[in-house]
Amino acid sequence: MDRIQLLQGDITEMHVDAIVNAANRSLLGGGGVDGAIHRAAGPKLKEACAKLNGCETGQAKITTAYRLPSRYVIHTVGPVWHGGEIGEKQQLASAYQNSLILAKEHKLKTIAFPNISTGVYAFPKELAAKIAIQTVLEFLDDDDWFEEVTFCVYDDENYKIYQDLLNV
Ligand code: ADP
Repeated sequence: MDRIQLLQGDITEMHVDAIVNAANRSLLGGGGVDGAIHRAAGPKLKEACAKLNGCETGQAKITTAYRLPSRYVIHTVGPVWHGGEIGEKQQLASAYQNSLILAKEHKLKTIAFPNISTGVYAFPKELAAKIAIQTVLEFLDDDDWFEEVTFCVYDDENYKIYQDLLNV
């Protein structure tokens, strides 16, 4: 738990080794946090993403971060919520897990996550937070690689949910 940080703010302003983008499968940019990351990183990010051939739901790909203060962007695709009976929970856990695996493969020590799938993709916020926290905690329990994992929360509702679940 001491390597987990909760923060409310804009993920594009974070000085960490990698920020995670809640992208869509095309990786060509969208709204929400994806749009904010592409605006702040500049047009080269889209050019780099265009070479990646998209990304499957639950998987993750990495680019440098161009004008952002972080070093890398890990683009992961969370599931669209369709009621929870078609694997959405497992896919959301995979998005967090594969982002951590990719960050470790690139020897990155600090990483910040947005609340993947809880915007346009409509995943229930509390359930998403439970899955996010459990997945990260399990990873950190098994592995001492990461120095700090930040949940960068944007909206007040998610912030309250994370405060309650993390007991901070
Ligand atoms: P998805 O399509 O995965 O649902 P969204 O971008 O619509 O992705 O929303 C995911 C989460 O990102 C939401 O909880 C939203 O409040 C949050 N968000 C939006 N802009 C930012 C930002 N600049 N920094 C961090 N989080 C953000």
